[in-house]
This record gives sequence, C-alpha cells and structure tokens, in this order.
Amino acid sequence: MSRIALVTGGTRGIGEAIAKSLQAAGHTVVATWAGNEASANAFKERTGMAIKRFDVGDFDATQTAIAEVEQEVGPVDILVNNAGITKDGFLHKMSFEQWDAVLKTNLYSAFNCARAVMPGMRARSFGRVINISSINGAKGQLGQTNYSAAKAGMIGFAKALAFEGAAKGITANTIAPGYIETAMTGQMDEKVLAGIVGQIPAGRLGQPSEIGSMVTYLASDEAGFINGATFHVNGAQYIT
Ligand code: NDP
Repeated sequence: MSRIALVTGGTRGIGEAIAKSLQAAGHTVVATWAGNEASANAFKERTGMAIKRFDVGDFDATQTAIAEVEQEVGPVDILVNNAGITKDGFLHKMSFEQWDAVLKTNLYSAFNCARAVMPGMRARSFGRVINISSINGAKGQLGQTNYSAAKAGMIGFAKALAFEGAAKGITANTIAPGYIETAMTGQMDEKVLAGIVGQIPAGRLGQPSEIGSMVTYLASDEAGFINGATFHVNGAQYIT
C-alpha cells in the first residue's frame, strides 16, 4: 500500500538512500533537512521528492513543520528518525554545547517528531516509526558519550513506544547501522577509517542502500508483527 513517509535528514547520505528506497516501494516521501540548502535542492531536482526545512531538535518548529506537511501532502504514516550529528570529544573536555546539540538532534528529535505524528497514527490505527541509531549506541565509543547516549536512548524510546502503539497497529523499531559509506565517514581520518574497516568481518563499509532496504521492509504492511526490535546492520562488526 502506498503511504506518506517523512524521512528526517532525508536529503543526503543514509537518509537519501532511505527516501529513495521508500519511493521505489511506491510511497510518497517528504525528506527534511536543516542547513545544507545546496544539497537539499540538488536532492529535490534529482529525485522529484518534496523537501521540508526544520530543526528536528526544536520542539515547536517540528510541531509546526509536520503540521504543515500533513496539511500540504497528507497524513504521515511512516516516520523515519534519521537526522543525526556528531560532536566528538572526551567527556572531560566536552562542552555542554557539544552534549546538548547531539542529544537534541539525535534523541530529542525522536520525541519531537513522533509526538507530532502519533495522534494521527493512533486515530488511523496504522503507523511505522523507525529510528536510525548506531553501532556506537549499542557498544559505546571513545569520545562519543553524547552520541552513544543519544543513540542508545533511541533504542529504549522505540521499545517503550512499541508497547503503547501495538494495539493500534503502530510499530516502533530501531536500526543500528555499523559504519556506512557517507559524508559522515568520509570526514574521518583515512588511517582511522582503514582501522575500522579492518575490524569489520565483511571487509568493507556498508552501503546506504543496505539501510534503506531494511527501513522499507520495516515500513511495509508485512512487517506489522515486528515491534520494539533493534536491528544491527554492521557486517558482523558487533554482534549482540
Ligand atoms: P549525514 O551527515 O550525511 O546527513 C545528516 C542529515 O541530517 C542531513 O540531511 C542533515 O541536514 C540532517 N540534519 C542534521 N542536523 C539536523 C537538524 N538539527 N535538524 C534536521 N535535520 C538535521 O549523515 P549520515 O547519512 O551519515 O547519517 C544518517 C544517520 O545515520 C544519522 O543519524 C547517523 O548518526 C546515523 N549513522 C550513520 C553512520 C555512518 O556510518 N554514516 C553509522 C551509524 C549511524 P543538512 O543536509 O541540511 O545538513
């Protein structure tokens, strides 16, 4: 069935692959972005998908923007909480701003977006909430107390939401990707990245499309009995 999907941070990287996969499955996709206008416009041009700008870490801005999307495009049945940032640093040197920005963008965003769509999902007795967490939320990572806390938080968030939505046909699941070939990993020091690839039994980085296809399956009607689960998509780098 064709539905309306909102993919946060959907204009590039993993989000773009998720948006394309959902579109290929017949869904109408709205991809959101925050600051990279050139990238967002290029995405719109390339794919023909709608785009919407708002800061997912800002509660009021998110409520307003999603209400506008629902008015202009229609009710959101599929929410993909994908937008994310890193601001790494050892805890003893981490500023409050680094902590706060990462928590707001990666975790508060899940609440802000889900809060906006959940009343409608409950009223229609259908919904899919899919969080994009991280391997580093599952296992922890040096220099990422902020990111690991936020990404682990998304896992607990989906588990609790699964209990609340199950009887209403709403599922909430989390995907924890390993290292994926995007701008985020492209910014890493070459030697550090080579070291990481050396720790991946698959011997390579994941492709964004490998996350996109997982999201599209979880968004499907067929996945209605999968709820509160966490999927580790990481080439066997971390098995839990
Ligand atoms: P990118 O940096 O390539 O893209 C991030 C996206 O999030 C962009 O569209 C960006 O918008 C958007 N965004 C950032 N901040 C905000 C904000 N405050 N409000 C709204 N949108 C925002 O990231 P990736 O594609 O690499 O990662 C996507 C997700 O996957 C993230 O949550 C990341 O933590 C997670 N992840 C990534 C891994 C990887 O190896 N790449 C591994 C594991 C998890 P704009 O373009 O306007 O800046």
